[in-house]
Amino acid sequence: MSAARLAERAAPGTPTPDTVVHLRDVTKTYGDVRALRGVSLDVTARELVAVVGPSGSGKSTMLNTVGTLDRPTSGSVRIAGHDVGSMRDDDLSRLRAEHIGFVFQHFHLQAGATAAENVADGLLYAGVARRARLERAKDALERVGLGHRVGHRPTELSGGEKQRVAIARAIVGDPTILLADEPTGALDSASGQRILTLLRELNDSGTTVLVITHDLALAASLPRQVRMRDGAVEEDSSTSDAGVLADAIAGVAR
Ligand code: ADP
Repeated sequence: MSAARLAERAAPGTPTPDTVVHLRDVTKTYGDVRALRGVSLDVTARELVAVVGPSGSGKSTMLNTVGTLDRPTSGSVRIAGHDVGSMRDDDLSRLRAEHIGFVFQHFHLQAGATAAENVADGLLYAGVARRARLERAKDALERVGLGHRVGHRPTELSGGEKQRVAIARAIVGDPTILLADEPTGALDSASGQRILTLLRELNDSGTTVLVITHDLALAASLPRQVRMRDGAVEEDSSTSDAGVLADAIAGVAR
């Protein structure tokens, strides 16, 4: 039997070659605030995971830990096979440049820069020359359906278009994992739906996606839901009875 097959048969919670996110007993404290109280989570390549839970339950802290922006207080974090706990800051920057794309609720675009320049910034730490960065930025804007807006500045774009630019910036380096923190939170529902469709398309083409959302109907429509409460994973549809959490979430959404 191959090593990969053996690994697949390993005990639950043991990372396999396909495990791109492996959190084990992760805690994070800020002063006396315990933002994460022992989070364990495994995500396999090409999964599309919704992260839900009340405000303050630790969703953003968990996502930032996966994105290596936050270091855990204790516990182990492996991202794309790398043990993050033992890595220096410059190695972490390289890991992020190679493997991780971020999308935020409020886009975080540079107001004075065009869509193409904003997207090209996603390659700043990837060692790509400026001209090549802009070429790849245009390709990424094509991928998100904004090939006709490359020269527009954020003030000339709708909210949905700004989020598409932010997604293009996140994917321009072909990341393994796309992390989205409330990407539809600042959008009307039609624009939000289009952003979700785009995330699904990116997932279909091979990107692992973790998306935090308050939109329970949206969460219920995704293949896997992870529900957080008080800094821990309260329920994970991949380990509970199939569909029970999705049904529960959809029930709340109705
Ligand atoms: P959620 O994304 O579910 O709303 P967060 O991860 O943002 O939750 O926050 C979890 C808890 O950690 C909250 O009590 C929040 O106030 C606290 N927290 C998050 N980031 C910081 C920080 N940088 N400094 C202090 N407390 C923080």
